[in-house]
Amino acid sequence: MTNPNPPIQAIFLDIGDTLVFDSPSQIDRVHQAAVACGLDLEHEKMSAAFRPVEDYALGRYVQGETQDDPRVARQCMDVLLEQFGAEALDDEGWENLSTAYAEAPFTRTLRPEALELLSDLKERGFKIGVVSDWTIDLETLLTEMGVRPYLDALAVSDIVGCTKPDPRIFEDALAQAGVSPSETIHIGDFFELDVAGARAAGLSAGLFDWRGRTPDADCPRFETFDEMAAYLRALPAVVKG
Ligand SMILES: [Mg+2]
Repeated sequence: MTNPNPPIQAIFLDIGDTLVFDSPSQIDRVHQAAVACGLDLEHEKMSAAFRPVEDYALGRYVQGETQDDPRVARQCMDVLLEQFGAEALDDEGWENLSTAYAEAPFTRTLRPEALELLSDLKERGFKIGVVSDWTIDLETLLTEMGVRPYLDALAVSDIVGCTKPDPRIFEDALAQAGVSPSETIHIGDFFELDVAGARAAGLSAGLFDWRGRTPDADCPRFETFDEMAAYLRALPAVVKG
């Protein structure tokens, strides 16, 4: 007889905006570029104004159109400007803004608590995986950050050939870790990509909803990294059969 709810043996995590954050954030870089191009956007209103931009971008993303496509990026900017009651940019304005944005420096930073959490989870017997929409250099980045030694699976969209919420990227990670979907939970920051994708592959899912985008999510939901870490640390340790 199969147990309908086998205990969790493996924990998969998203990278972008879950374990690794841009500094300055994308919102701040867009704001910085806009101000440099003479657009008067109030900084305090940027987070709220970005919400419809995220919704728009996600809608395109699940259809396979990313912000790497300049047309999508420009439409995202149009949505943002609309929130401020500003006119859409003409071609020259867009050219200037996209150049200023591309040139805005940023670094990628690992959540300072992440390594201790990964270490604790490994000690408690869990397999750990990463499922991330990222370029092929993610493994190098995670090695530099000290994350790679903790991982039993690393599924990267540019290597697997599909992005979340496609279940195949989760299946790739399951195969690498040698675990079944029913004994695995995935946590990430976008319900539409991380939770929907994990569920499509038969995994449990949790949402690190630090933006407060999906308050009614029908899954474990964490507003802070500490809440997420406490939930994972409270999972029963893996009993080796
Ligand atoms: Mg993410």
